[in-house]
Amino acid sequence: MEPAAASLSIETNGSHGYDVDIIAWFDHVSEKAGLVQTETLRRILELNWGVEYLKKWLGDIKIQDMDACALESLYTSLVPLASHADLEPYIQRIADGDTTPLLTQQPITTLSLSSGTTEGRQKFVPFTRHSSQTTLNIFSLAAAYRSRVYPIREGGKILELIYSSKQFKTKGGLTVGTATTHYYASEEFKIKQEKTKSFTCSPAEVISGGDYKQSTYCHLLLGLFFCDQVEFITSTFAYSIVQAFGAFEEMWKEICNDIKEGSLSTRITLPKMRTSVLDIISSSPNPSLASRIEENCKKLENLDWVGLIPKLWPNAKYVYSIMTGSMQPYMKKLRHYAGGIPLVSADYGSTESWIGVNVDPSLPPENVTFAVIPTFSYFEFMPLYRQNQDFSTAIDDFIEDEPVPLSKVKVGQEYEIVLTTFTGLYRCRLGDVVEVAGFHKGTPKLNFICRRKLILTVNIDKNTEKDLQQVVERGSQLLNKARAELVDFTSHADVVNQPGHYVIYWEIKGEVEEGVLRECCREMDASFVDHGYVVSRKAHSIGPLELCIVERGTFKKILDYFVGNGAALSQFKTPRCTSNQVLLSILNMCAIKRFSSTAYA
Ligand code: AMP
Repeated sequence: MEPAAASLSIETNGSHGYDVDIIAWFDHVSEKAGLVQTETLRRILELNWGVEYLKKWLGDIKIQDMDACALESLYTSLVPLASHADLEPYIQRIADGDTTPLLTQQPITTLSLSSGTTEGRQKFVPFTRHSSQTTLNIFSLAAAYRSRVYPIREGGKILELIYSSKQFKTKGGLTVGTATTHYYASEEFKIKQEKTKSFTCSPAEVISGGDYKQSTYCHLLLGLFFCDQVEFITSTFAYSIVQAFGAFEEMWKEICNDIKEGSLSTRITLPKMRTSVLDIISSSPNPSLASRIEENCKKLENLDWVGLIPKLWPNAKYVYSIMTGSMQPYMKKLRHYAGGIPLVSADYGSTESWIGVNVDPSLPPENVTFAVIPTFSYFEFMPLYRQNQDFSTAIDDFIEDEPVPLSKVKVGQEYEIVLTTFTGLYRCRLGDVVEVAGFHKGTPKLNFICRRKLILTVNIDKNTEKDLQQVVERGSQLLNKARAELVDFTSHADVVNQPGHYVIYWEIKGEVEEGVLRECCREMDASFVDHGYVVSRKAHSIGPLELCIVERGTFKKILDYFVGNGAALSQFKTPRCTSNQVLLSILNMCAIKRFSSTAYA
């Protein structure tokens, strides 16, 4: 069985036939997902047999004649669970130019950078042709499911707010960039457009320009230049769409002028980007389109840009992006821009491996689940049980059990995902907490819960990213009543000043009276339900929660800091909890007001 549906016979039937083929393929592998997983593991091990890492744990055992089930139990009993740190010395040797087979038999020539924006530290992950193929595979599969519910015109355009990071070479000459960067540069990115018969508005020079502000301007300009042909609007993570339309509110007049004159703003200074965009627009100045957009923008401005998307892109059928997990807080703003247009939550994956596809695109993002694709990697699921008592030795709020294979997962149970990939990661813990919500045929549908280690803790309290999100949601409801809105937030557990306490940083849009903010602060403090937190607050071993209001543009500075360090806007996720000193100094320098909670007084 091939791991990528690129191997499907997809040449003949047009995009509709292709949709049918790829869904049939997925149904087929999902039906017997357990067996497919066993077989996938055998393939990975056969391909990489004899590499240094596997030899260390499996020695010289002959696997060729072994039955796949026996191999699976041998593998999981002899190869230990690993974290990225365990594999890092091998990846570093590869980066430094060691060409002996360390993790894979096929030489690794490219490394991906995880965004590092959730935990503050970027990681190198091997990237191979298989990585691009699975990306093509999952994008095509997801497109097939979407087109069942929201059909689009063949040959239409996509306003894709996507960005490559800067690429660089390691000491050993390997190319490094984010996984999305490698994908946009790959043949598979072109193939996907052909197969799904939808084409991105922007040329490669805009996607790979390396300056996200200039790229955003050009994406929006071209998206509007082709506005009547745009079938849907997309980005990798929802943040990028919110960021782009926020920028649009400031620069729409300039964009309209460029459409009217067939010119390009002087803010675009990158020569290749300028040439490629001017090639498209300079021969077709379009004053009537420009004045239509201008009229619409004037009206939209008075409405605080509600329904911007359907007004400016009249044929857009939906907005498509990752909206779950740490993207959930941007949903409100996205709905604001989308008017009544459906929001479709995109698929689940990581730099290490794609994991699951959204097979129910009509569901609201809050209810979306991801059906695991059993050919992509070998997935194990480590059961996690939430603690009620205070175990001071636990790393976080979960007690772990032995990982189980995909065929043994149970509905309602939470797990951490463990990956064995075609790119040389063996039983590597991903750090994401998921819950099994049900099954698609025989493959589990996962609910993304949160990043595992991202927690606020002072002493015996433990709050996850999700707990924090819920608390912030409650606090910001008061803000909304006061007609202001939360732009972004993060948090920090301050243990330097005694007693330790939580600091929540908010950037807000609109004027709010101090009394309201004081109430928001109290409400958030009182909304943490974690037993350890409540007990400690009552005993005053954790001090009052502090709400720190930062000036407008602070979170842009944080984004710029990450992008300056090699992250790509396409993969950026605001860290919801941080102890990164640079970030904290940006936040504290931009602080304009601080409030201390009166809850538990
Ligand atoms: P990166 O390592 O930068 O590629 O980011 C991958 C991480 O992004 C995953 O491990 C998840 O924590 C998060 N992520 C990816 N896809 C989704 C999704 N559909 N919903 C929620 N979080 C996601």
